[in-house]
Amino acid sequence: EATIEVSGLRKRYGPTVALDGMTFTVAPGKVTGFVGPNGAGKSTTMRVILGLDSVDEGHALVGGRPYRSLRHPLRQVGSLLDASALQPSRTGRNHLLWLAHSQGLGARRVDEVAERVGLTSAIRRKAGGYSLGMRQRLGIAAALLGDPPVLVLDEPVNGMDPEGIRWVRGFLRALAAEGRAVLVSSHLMSELQDTADHVVIAGRGKVIADVGVAELIEAA
Ligand code: ADP
Ligand code: ADP
Repeated sequence: EATIEVSGLRKRYGPTVALDGMTFTVAPGKVTGFVGPNGAGKSTTMRVILGLDSVDEGHALVGGRPYRSLRHPLRQVGSLLDASALQPSRTGRNHLLWLAHSQGLGARRVDEVAERVGLTSAIRRKAGGYSLGMRQRLGIAAALLGDPPVLVLDEPVNGMDPEGIRWVRGFLRALAAEGRAVLVSSHLMSELQDTADHVVIAGRGKVIADVGVAELIEAA
């Protein structure tokens, strides 16, 4: 089952408590929003889910296993962490081809994901000329290469214009409708309230509220 379980994560950087018991679940077929101010521990939690950061206590499981013991991690979990890391002199297509090859995938899959994110012609241009919104779209395309049932997206609408933000909303809804478990972070509730089925609100390394969006709207 394509579920993410985050359970009792604790982590310090020297005197800084980054995670202080972070616990929540991401269900398949839903968009789970992960909201909280800068420094709340969202990126660290996502990095732990993706096996990129260690913890002092607790665990994060994808389909019941730690990321590092998944048989095909890139086909199991797609991620967008930092869309700014692109070589300016290479085309977007080149970048995707390189990532695809490292997963045993070919050019056909690259062109499919580029089309899904609306970059069919833009990927043939050099990444140095891309807006941040285009780099975000390319990052989302990269996350989808392996057709993963689980997606972990850190601030995907950062730097997008209103049209891009609308597009991401619809796109995340479509990915969830395909049965995928989608975890998406933002420091702004307003970016996620129309997108997420469920919102996990984090503050100072832990969950301060974990609610369905329908409940939130009733409360407001
Ligand atoms: P968010 O993504 O919600 O903004 P982060 O997970 O990036 O929060 O950060 C949580 C806390 O951990 C912050 O206080 C941040 O400064 C600290 N932190 C994150 N990464 C590091 C690191 N590599 N070294 C030291 N402190 C870090
Ligand atoms: P975010 O808010 O998305 O976490 P940041 O700008 O806080 O983005 O962090 C970017 C990178 O810097 C991350 O890899 C994070 O772990 C690291 N980082 C964050 N805070 C610190 C810190 N206080 N000291 C060292 N590295 C940090």
